[in-house]
Amino acid sequence: MICPRCKSNNVTVSVVNEVKEKRKKGLLYWIFIGWWWELFAWIFLTLPKLIFAIFGRHKKVVSKTVTYAVCQNCGHRWKV
Ligand SMILES: [Zn+2]
Repeated sequence: MICPRCKSNNVTVSVVNEVKEKRKKGLLYWIFIGWWWELFAWIFLTLPKLIFAIFGRHKKVVSKTVTYAVCQNCGHRWKV
């Protein structure tokens, strides 16, 4: 495999579980955006999801595994 950025073939491939992957958010994010955004997101995303889960069709949540290639030369990461 060849890195599209630097054309190096020093590339490692890793499988990442996207569901388990959590992004860390900074303190400032939580002070200014986090609390109301999370509330907003919860009301507008979680509630319809719950209603849909109760009344709608049952759908199994499958954790998606994504294969990433990471260039050891320049650090570029992309989906395979
Ligand atoms: Zn590279």
